[in-house]
Amino acid sequence: MKNIENMQLYLIRLGEISLKGLNRRMFEKQLKANIKLKIHPHHSLIEREKGRIYLYVEDSCPEELVYNTLRTTFGVVGFSRALVCEKNFDRICETALKVLETEPFNSGSGTFKVECRRADKNFELNSYQIEARLGALVLERYPQMKVDVHKPEKILYVEIRDMAYLYSSPVKGPSGLPTGTAGKGLLLLSGGIDSPVAGYRMASRGLRLDALYFHAYPYTSEQALGKVKDLAMLLSGYNMGMNLFVVNFTKAELWIKDHSKEEEHTLMMRACMMKVANRIARKRGCQVLVTGEALGQVASQTLEAMCFTNSMSEIPVLRPLVGMDKQEIIDTARQIGTYETSILPYDDCCVIFSPKHPLVKPDVDTETRSFLDMDIDELLDKCVEEVEMFEFSYRV
Ligand code: ATP
Ligand code: MG
Repeated sequence: MKNIENMQLYLIRLGEISLKGLNRRMFEKQLKANIKLKIHPHHSLIEREKGRIYLYVEDSCPEELVYNTLRTTFGVVGFSRALVCEKNFDRICETALKVLETEPFNSGSGTFKVECRRADKNFELNSYQIEARLGALVLERYPQMKVDVHKPEKILYVEIRDMAYLYSSPVKGPSGLPTGTAGKGLLLLSGGIDSPVAGYRMASRGLRLDALYFHAYPYTSEQALGKVKDLAMLLSGYNMGMNLFVVNFTKAELWIKDHSKEEEHTLMMRACMMKVANRIARKRGCQVLVTGEALGQVASQTLEAMCFTNSMSEIPVLRPLVGMDKQEIIDTARQIGTYETSILPYDDCCVIFSPKHPLVKPDVDTETRSFLDMDIDELLDKCVEEVEMFEFSYRV
């Protein structure tokens, strides 16, 4: 029998995981491991029920840590802090006031209702009486709130069972599938808006990510690298930690400039990125690459250019933003908290050359020949040998 005295209780709602068939246990087990790891060294216990998880966390664990953990753990659709008390109406009122101090009620505004389930029919009040009295209590505490029994923004739940359980409507989690359930990928992370969102999207499907950044110091500044590190840190909370590999790309870019036609520079650079990324992916056990490309966004992202870039990679290149428009990408970046960092004004790449008239409809065979003619392989090997690694924690 577990000992849950002096422990906080959270109800976690699951979505897609609960629709899984025989492999549901695998997803639940990974989710449980991810939550426990983030909360460690605080002791926690997890019980599973269909569509739900009960998380017990030792009292000394800061509530903020649990909230930050559940807000950033893929697989969590929503969660509520639940409080447990004796089945005595005065105690229930005291407990309800505590629930009102937490999210989402603590904003003190909006519409609400109280919903009671009374499994113990011997309790002194019936469900309707409990709902009415607790509703009055909410209005007394937050006079700006309004009752709406049909479409409330917030719900205060009360369950009268062996004890009384009180909790509020769930705070949103990020949904998706638990990190570590879908293999491993290498994210090409620039300092721009798109690639962090692409990483987030794939991580939300359970893919564990390493990241790779091509730095062209001194043509790109230390601040540009700092920005990429900040983005890696932001993503690492969602991704259960992340390693960022930084390749010094200056010599390769200068070589491209001297050994290919101006209109091919960008394509040649992207080809080199693919080659280096493939080698690092192989070393790190990554099965796919992930980029922030969207069809038609810039010259190097036309269908023809993407076909060429693809042909330079031996492993699949996942482009989760391929069909999204810029505004949708910006909205997601804002929502996941990477936007403000991404728009800082430091150039990330491509500053050594930006051709006036880049090729927009390249021919794969012609460009492959141009790439081979550059004879850049040895230089790219050197880039891989000299790669630097920075580790970012899953701590939130
Ligand atoms: P982003 O906003 O992600 O920088 P972008 O719109 O600027 O993308 P490009 O510069 O063409 O587009 O880059 C396309 C993709 O190539 C990026 O989303 C990223 O995945 C990868 N990439 C570009 N530059 C770098 C870099 N310096 N280091 C690592 N990956 C890069
Ligand atoms: Mg960019």
